Amino acid sequence: MTVTVGVVGTGSIGSDHVRRLSARVSGARVGAVFDVDTARADAVAAAAGARAHADALDVVDDPAVEAVVIVSPGDTHAALALACMTAGKPVLCEKPLATTGIDALTVLAAEVASGRRLVQVGFMRRFDAGYLRMKAALDSGAIGEALVLVLHCIHRNPAVPPAFTSDMALTDSVIHEIDAARWLLGEEIVGTTVVRTRRSPFAAGHLADPQLVLLVTGSGVVVEVEVFRNCRYGYDVRCEIVGATGTVSLEVPTTGAPTTGGVLGRAVPADWGERFGGAYHAELQQWSTACGPAPWPGRTPGTGTPPPPSPRPTSGR
Ligand code: NAP
Repeated sequence: MTVTVGVVGTGSIGSDHVRRLSARVSGARVGAVFDVDTARADAVAAAAGARAHADALDVVDDPAVEAVVIVSPGDTHAALALACMTAGKPVLCEKPLATTGIDALTVLAAEVASGRRLVQVGFMRRFDAGYLRMKAALDSGAIGEALVLVLHCIHRNPAVPPAFTSDMALTDSVIHEIDAARWLLGEEIVGTTVVRTRRSPFAAGHLADPQLVLLVTGSGVVVEVEVFRNCRYGYDVRCEIVGATGTVSLEVPTTGAPTTGGVLGRAVPADWGERFGGAYHAELQQWSTACGPAPWPGRTPGTGTPPPPSPRPTSGR
């Protein structure tokens, strides 16, 4: 059995998700797409054998569509996630779930009121082999009976488009570290401080870049994040967890650069697609499998809506 997915937004990662769902993820197909750029949507739809709709809500309401992936810009996500819940359709919403706290809480309240876990946020690091190994080491107590003291995180991108803002460095980038910290540590963040440092000469005039973010968890762990969106040299995500008697660091896949002459080669990924391609695949595979027909008992056949799976693939909360 195959789950038919609708995709809203066919830009960089949207078209990538459509390709994965169409060609690599088993048990899924893309049945409908929408993008404000109709030429882009038409091309992506034609390649996937899908229908291009004239409106995002037409994708959500399409009777053939059983589940929806939201990959349009962040400020459209909350309204679309609410529409998917109204239609009773599971939704994988790329981060951020919303661009304001009020909008995020509105989506959360609607999901709680629906009594069904329909919304998953695209936090693909939970599916990345390196992050999973780090979490397993942490959970095993290998770095000090799981007594974590500090997390050091780095999030660097080579460049950003002119419309990228200082706030987006937090809502679009550091949001990954916020989710990863909550997932790794199993606790909530209770305090945040943002510090602006000397600006990169490559940052647009309106953009504070880099920024340093200090997050404090309920038990007092400090998560220190450097977010640098114009580092020029590549896509570089790092994480080190410091425990009471040891540390564990994120392993980055080694590709490309030769190890020779006493130098250990390691190429820096060019972009998020190269670094996290495997994680996107695992995320889409697990999500679409969970959306499909009854891999667990209790699902009502024909509703297109699964009951809460256990374990659930991931959650934005
Ligand atoms: P993008 O390349 O700009 O693509 C967004 C697409 O949505 C564009 O084709 C855009 O058209 C279109 N669009 C604009 N307004 C729309 C609307 N109201 N309804 C439907 N489509 C609309 O951006 P992207 O890099 O693919 O990012 C899309 C989302 O994915 C963002 O929320 C981003 O944060 C997220 N993302 C997540 C990851 C991750 O690692 N999980 C990585 C990258 C991106 P125009 O170009 O004509 O405006």
